[in-house]
Amino acid sequence: MPDSAPTSSPASAAEVLNLLRSHGGRVTRSRRVLLEVLFAASEHMNAEEIGAEVARVEPAVNMSTVYRNLEELQQLGVVVHTHLGHGPATYRLASAAHPHLYCESCGATFHLPLDIFEELSDTALRTHGFSVDATHFAIPGRCAACSQS
Ligand SMILES: [Zn+2]
Ligand SMILES: [Zn+2]
Ligand SMILES: [Zn+2]
Repeated sequence: MPDSAPTSSPASAAEVLNLLRSHGGRVTRSRRVLLEVLFAASEHMNAEEIGAEVARVEPAVNMSTVYRNLEELQQLGVVVHTHLGHGPATYRLASAAHPHLYCESCGATFHLPLDIFEELSDTALRTHGFSVDATHFAIPGRCAACSQS
């Protein structure tokens, strides 16, 4: 199934705000709204889409504030981004980050459990002292439907 919900999401936006505070971040009105949008997000929203959602709640917040907040929330480790194909990056709460498969033919995305990369991560760490981030880039390929055509 494409895009099943990740299992490790925080229980509420308030939990994420606590996480933000514990990472030394300030909880401003625009950050709160942005985090609520990310928390309610179906999947894979890029900055423009997040900005449009934030503006529906808080019309005074402009795109440059959204970009700055996304940047700062990433530096604080609360938000992460993923590259699915060649399009703009999509943003998620760090606690909900997950690996993806991405069909280069039709653009369909599929989720993978994190532990599927355990062997790769262990080997990379053991042989190269390298820490693998399996959620930053999607693994490209062809979905079942596109493989048949
Ligand atoms: Zn996803
Ligand atoms: Zn990136
Ligand atoms: Zn496809």
